[in-house]
Amino acid sequence: MNTIKLLGKSGNNTVVGDYRHNGSKSGDFEQRFVLLTFNPKLKTTNHMKLYKLILFLLSLNVVVHAQQRVKPVPVETGVSYGLAQYRHSVISNVEYIVLFKVPLKRTDDITGVSRLTFNLKDVSQPLQIDFKQNAEHVKDVRLSGEEMIPFEVKDEHIIIAPKYLKAGPNDIAVDFIAGNGSLNRNDDYLYALFVPDRARTVFPCFDQPDLKATFKLGLRVPKEWKALANGRIKDVTDDGDFKRYVFNTSDKLPTYLFSFTAGTYASVTQVIGNRNAEFLHRETDSAKISLSVDSIFKAHEDAISFLENWTGIPFPFQKVGFVAIPDFQFGGMEHPGEVQYKASGLFLDEGATKDQFIARSNVISHETAHMWFGDMVTMEWFNDVWMKEVFANFMADKVTEKLMGAETFNLKFLQDHYPAAYGVDRTMGANPIRQQLDNLQDAGSLYGNIIYHKAPIMMRQLESLMGKANFQKGIREYLKKYAYGNATWPQLIAILSKYSTANLYTWNKVWVSQPGRPVFDYKVSYRGNKIGSLSVSQHPEMGAPRIWPQVFNITLVYADHQKTIPVDVNARHMELKVAVGLAKPLFILFNSGGMGYGLFPADKAVAAGLFNLQSPLQRASAYINAYENMLAGLAFKPAELLKLYLQGISIEKNEMNLRLLTGYITNIYWTFTLPKDRLMLSPMVEQALWTAMEQQTAANNKKILFGAYQNVYLSAEAKSRIYQVWLTQNPPAGIKLAEDDYTGMALSIALKSDTPTSVLKQQQARVSNPERKTRLAFLMPALSLNVQERDAFFNSLADRKNRTKEAWVTTALSYLNHPLRQGTSIKYLPKSLDLVEELQRTGDVFFPQSWLAAVFGSYQTKEAYEIVRDFLEQHPDYNPKLRDKILQATDNLYRAQGVLGR
Ligand SMILES: [Zn+2]
Repeated sequence: MNTIKLLGKSGNNTVVGDYRHNGSKSGDFEQRFVLLTFNPKLKTTNHMKLYKLILFLLSLNVVVHAQQRVKPVPVETGVSYGLAQYRHSVISNVEYIVLFKVPLKRTDDITGVSRLTFNLKDVSQPLQIDFKQNAEHVKDVRLSGEEMIPFEVKDEHIIIAPKYLKAGPNDIAVDFIAGNGSLNRNDDYLYALFVPDRARTVFPCFDQPDLKATFKLGLRVPKEWKALANGRIKDVTDDGDFKRYVFNTSDKLPTYLFSFTAGTYASVTQVIGNRNAEFLHRETDSAKISLSVDSIFKAHEDAISFLENWTGIPFPFQKVGFVAIPDFQFGGMEHPGEVQYKASGLFLDEGATKDQFIARSNVISHETAHMWFGDMVTMEWFNDVWMKEVFANFMADKVTEKLMGAETFNLKFLQDHYPAAYGVDRTMGANPIRQQLDNLQDAGSLYGNIIYHKAPIMMRQLESLMGKANFQKGIREYLKKYAYGNATWPQLIAILSKYSTANLYTWNKVWVSQPGRPVFDYKVSYRGNKIGSLSVSQHPEMGAPRIWPQVFNITLVYADHQKTIPVDVNARHMELKVAVGLAKPLFILFNSGGMGYGLFPADKAVAAGLFNLQSPLQRASAYINAYENMLAGLAFKPAELLKLYLQGISIEKNEMNLRLLTGYITNIYWTFTLPKDRLMLSPMVEQALWTAMEQQTAANNKKILFGAYQNVYLSAEAKSRIYQVWLTQNPPAGIKLAEDDYTGMALSIALKSDTPTSVLKQQQARVSNPERKTRLAFLMPALSLNVQERDAFFNSLADRKNRTKEAWVTTALSYLNHPLRQGTSIKYLPKSLDLVEELQRTGDVFFPQSWLAAVFGSYQTKEAYEIVRDFLEQHPDYNPKLRDKILQATDNLYRAQGVLGR
């Protein structure tokens, strides 16, 4: 959209615009705010320094522009890499003063002022300030807070003509109406979530990570609201129905980390280490509060202390603060001083499983690790966003390792990362860890399981290649060198190379710059009862020939002992000489330590001894490997594997492993079993799960199996059993269920009932928390027995305003597209695909993929497959990153065509 709000010809000062909003008239808060935030003394000193600098720059400019006329950077939507590079080369010392005035009514506009001060080197071309709103949102633009100047609004930018720019310090203030989308406005709270490029949708700024700036924030909010931001609160005053908050100047931040929240929150403060930490939340369940609050602070304290030790750098920001937000889009977001978390991940009740406790500690450690990785040292451009994520995960894992011991940690690492990474890397839409990014507006599409899960695996392989001590030295040097600045992955590799004898550049090429995984084969020959030779070889699952250097273990399993052979592969083919002469094993377990990455051979003989393996890690690695082989059409057919896994559920006592097994069971059951076979299998599967639940003794294991039972049941007997549990709130012996569990149960009852039922209404009446009530109301039409009602619900999702709670939408979609409903919901598939581009433009970063996963997660028919294929054929010029997301999300559907012999 090219909306031009011009204002006078160049060369005179005539302004056609709205004078009513000039600085002196827009209220005393601005005046007071500016007084509070500008330190006159400091300013003077700055000005003197700047004066000298100006003289210098002026002379420089003359030289620069005499020699090379820089080609003007074109004005285009988003933030192009070209614009970012140009601005980085000419703009420095950026400071923002930002003021937001939040009205009493959610539907009224939030108005604001964004005052940018910065040094500028080049005044030969117009200045582009990012603001993704139409011209009506820009009220006026003033120089030094006073003089109104003409401006143009074009392609998501406010354009200032060169004649209003100075070489040296500039001071430009914009009065604006804020965009609402990324302020997440609710009736009684809001929160700013700007990652990766949403700051520019809310207020005028230079929205790129390598123009770090300080932020002075002022908020005027309804008087009962509390507020939390990057800086400490400096001043609070009453103003009739409102309160005015002024915050201290923030540390230097990129725009995507500038944030605040305000609303009717409860505030808790505790001292952790030697600092005050503040926590805002909206939880109403007093049991959850008393069970969780101390642990939440403690987890922050543990994580901070671990990271200070590991990095050798004290906590790098002025304060610790965090907020629990109901139905937050992500698990957490790492704004310094105002980390945002999904409330349900922090507040656990007494029914919570060990996994949930570990996940909570992990998400807190992850966001805390970001203070050093991402917040203190930031990527130069969002193509390296994976770096901050991999380090956050890597460090969170180290905290977890310390808390739970190496063995549990290795198991958790395997389960957290490998299945998720394979889930993308085995598909035709696989992307490399490091991707090209031409425009920040596409940054959201970089996020995904490769960044979050393959990258940590790669980093652990790198650490083992370099040795832990060398790796840590390299990382410390990198953090010190780039503290409060920006750095690229090649800059880190250059530092790490100093501490490694291996060639990290070739290593980097295959692991980081290219997608995909290796497939390993083996050859074994026996001489009598002894191994004559054992060799492994690797080839890419897809694409050009290449080698993944890596370490993994092979274990020879005998009746009464094991022999483990460490393998360090850096070639296509390797003879394992150490194996020659060893006794013939019962079976060979590949990747028995879980470190190796790729598709490993599954020795079918493993099945016989699988559940006798003593090590939970070995069993988990074997479970994963068997599943990957089934998907590849090797070793196991789905029905065989389903049977094998079901044998294990009463024997497997490890909670994480049991969760993995039941996940695979439900997945094979719904996605890789034909409906007619499923009906035949279902009594056996129900029975096996119920029996195992009774046989297992640990409460969490029972609960996991009860959950799987609820997921698969189809028989009339099971229906009445589950209904009784829900109705009487009397769970099977040894299992504790909380409100959220009963809500989930009510949803599954509604899904599986073929007679109209009022369970959801009744469940809603049982729930007291207003947000959880509203969520149920939202989900109800998606579970309606009435097809027209479900259709109407699906159609309503085309309207953005019905998609604001993205977590609710994806839950609703997974019910709408459940295998039991696919007969009537397959017609939603084309429209679901059509909407993806819009979701990417309007939703949060994970939304396109979570939408696609919720829609396509359990389809298996040829008809569904053809809808996807036709869509891709009919859109040859489709955004390649979104195309990849579609291929990733529909990989099971694609494989089902082969595996089920369609
Ligand atoms: Zn993160």
